[in-house]
Amino acid sequence: MARPQRPQEYYDQIKDKFREERNLRLGYRPPGTDQYTSELSGDLAKYAIDPYAKDVPSREPLNDEVEVLFIGGGFSALLTSARLRERGLESIRIVERGSDVGGTWYWNRYPGAACDVVSYDYLPLLDELDYVPVNHYSRGPEIFSHCQAIAQKYNLYDLAVFNTTVTETRWDDADQLWHVKTDQGDVMRAQFVICANGTLAKPKLSAISGMESFAGHSFHTSRWDYDYTGENLEHLKDKVVGIIGTGASAVQIVPELAKVAKEVYVFQRTPSSIDVRDDWPTDPNWARKLQPGWQHKRREKVLAAVENSLEKRAAKGATSPEEKLRKQENANIDYMMRIHRRIDEIVHDPATADALKPWYMFMCKRPCFHNEYLPSFNLPNVHLVDTQGQGITQISPQGPVFDGKEYGLDLLIYATGFEVQQTGIYNDIVGAGGVNLQDKYAQGIRTLLGIHTAGFPNLFIMGGYQASFQFNLTEMLQTQGDHIAACIDYVRANGHHALDVKDEAEEWWVQNVIEHRGKTSRSEECTPGYYNFEGNEQRRQDGNYNGGFRQYFQHQGQVREKMEENFHLVAREN
Ligand code: NDP
Repeated sequence: MARPQRPQEYYDQIKDKFREERNLRLGYRPPGTDQYTSELSGDLAKYAIDPYAKDVPSREPLNDEVEVLFIGGGFSALLTSARLRERGLESIRIVERGSDVGGTWYWNRYPGAACDVVSYDYLPLLDELDYVPVNHYSRGPEIFSHCQAIAQKYNLYDLAVFNTTVTETRWDDADQLWHVKTDQGDVMRAQFVICANGTLAKPKLSAISGMESFAGHSFHTSRWDYDYTGENLEHLKDKVVGIIGTGASAVQIVPELAKVAKEVYVFQRTPSSIDVRDDWPTDPNWARKLQPGWQHKRREKVLAAVENSLEKRAAKGATSPEEKLRKQENANIDYMMRIHRRIDEIVHDPATADALKPWYMFMCKRPCFHNEYLPSFNLPNVHLVDTQGQGITQISPQGPVFDGKEYGLDLLIYATGFEVQQTGIYNDIVGAGGVNLQDKYAQGIRTLLGIHTAGFPNLFIMGGYQASFQFNLTEMLQTQGDHIAACIDYVRANGHHALDVKDEAEEWWVQNVIEHRGKTSRSEECTPGYYNFEGNEQRRQDGNYNGGFRQYFQHQGQVREKMEENFHLVAREN
């Protein structure tokens, strides 16, 4: 039976409420992204310490040369290395801050950590590793193990250095190599450098007045202290625990805390949208029948399906752009109201249920999927402290203070997220002629495909701005890795030493990014969050390429078809 059509006023009223909630939040936090700090030094240095690196052996500083050096050892480095190895490249070094490969999955070991993308799509290189994930959705430990298995298969541990942070990456005009310095006193030289340091890698804290004075124990979600909580959180039985933030990390953590801790206080500023997330073990009969190359074929199918649906939509073209937008918005609101109804069905206390309702368009914030998060609020030991958009602004030695009430805690967990897509500019990167990448970007980000930037020969950036955005990040990273491996292979196979993108090619891409970002003005109407730079005004070019993933992938191929047109290709001067 067709659903009754609602009058447009119904949707307009909800849109007004969305605007009201957005303005409320913007009023509380004029500093935008500056409300956060990721400079974890001084009193805050403890939030950056790696709790998983135990008994790290000291080593002599390195002074040597490799062909390819990766800054970071997460999926970006692993996926690109696999392709480089397949092309016969031997000298590959990963330099990694943590004590192992894995990136996100090395750091985020909090209880309940799992991925929301279907495992057969998210876990990369399944064909190559002849592996089938255990469940429909993978849990954190399985993904971390898979990263280690990739590093083992492609011999990436041989030259890797761990517990090491790159501090400077400088192109030496004389020997035409990158000179990479680290906090361990290394000076490594490399022909090619790949910035593979992740899209959401650096933990950030909300800069809350008095946070240094908190007398209990505290840590960030990406630095989970199992010595304090116990492996199965058993030490929390008699503890009062608070968690600040209700994004994707907190949504997975809260149900685990709820099962064990004496009391749990969830400090909420803006609720996430929570939809169903059913999980089940992989069917062994299905797994047994998989033919070699199955994951590759599966991905091709998904991409083709996206293309078909785009073509169908284009063919419908009769509706005006305004009508199309209105229909999209109304469908979006219908979805969000279903999310609201689901909360009413699950959460018993009406006031708590109301407070958990997100008032913004779907995808304004990263959507969440969980079957246990909402029921947690029915437990007598779990308390929602809804700050109604204001957030926690003060912490006393006892704990967070809101509305004149002090919440005394033993443990305070910061689920306040990460710096966003700063890959490429974490450390000092200095290109040809002594130009600093940050100085170049001060006038606006300039790249080709988000990967190459003029004046920085043989440097490649992964997962940064001006690249496409994909909910399944590993798929995007794999296309970038394939592209980079093909570029390096081209340089080597044709007797060149370096490639540097031409200004015209860079300008073409910047304009392409600007043109397509025009489509995303709606994100400016969204409630603040990291998707829209916390409501800060942003130059059009300082964001993702929104022309579509398939198109991004095609552009990569087109760029490689015309290497001589797009790049200066130089031989090494003797
Ligand atoms: P987020 O940046 O998504 O969330 C940070 C949270 O902290 C927000 O709820 C924010 O509120 C809140 N906050 C910040 N300051 C305050 C304050 N002063 N008082 C109260 N609340 C505050 O970080 P996450 O670590 O949750 O997630 C980061 C990203 O990592 C995800 O978006 C996702 O892309 C990825 N991820 C994926 C997972 C998966 O696949 N399931 C799991 C975990 C993470 P507000 O919304 O108002 O800004």
